[in-house]
Amino acid sequence: MKKIINEMKLRLPAISGNEGVCRAMISAFVSGLDPTLDELGDLRCAVSEAVTNCVVHAYPNKDKLHSFIYISARLYDNKEVSIEISDKGCGIVDLELALTPGYTEGGEGERSGMGFFIMESFTDSVKVKSTPGRGTVILMKKKFSS
Ligand code: ATP
Ligand code: MG
Repeated sequence: MKKIINEMKLRLPAISGNEGVCRAMISAFVSGLDPTLDELGDLRCAVSEAVTNCVVHAYPNKDKLHSFIYISARLYDNKEVSIEISDKGCGIVDLELALTPGYTEGGEGERSGMGFFIMESFTDSVKVKSTPGRGTVILMKKKFSS
């Protein structure tokens, strides 16, 4: 049975400057598991995509300073990290469509519809739960090599 060896919780406004903050916090948090540079880079990318989605899509027409990204993460003694990134925003009506690589509803700036695909490619597992009008929860897991 794997054991939890560390955990953290963060709540940050859904403003774009916080993408970098989340990446940095996660990097520092997982450093205790001694990931390789490649593994760390992959995880940072996946986290970035999930956080960017909260910033860009979750809170349309809302005051972003009072709209939040919630991150909670756990480290396990088998070198695994689990990261939950959630919002209390608009949610996703057609999840299957949203998860299709290349599908995008747009938003601010240029989007390519590859965010979920990148999260899946750069971690071991991604689970998405979303309720329209309530918000979205992304659970990602990654195990580092020893
Ligand atoms: P890219 O990530 O390549 O810039 P994208 O954000 O449109 O483009 P995905 O990250 O794969 O692509 O997301 C696909 C779609 O799912 C988005 O266009 C958006 O409609 C929806 N979506 C994703 N995350 C959220 C969220 N947290 N809240 C509401 N809708 C979301
Ligand atoms: Mg995206």
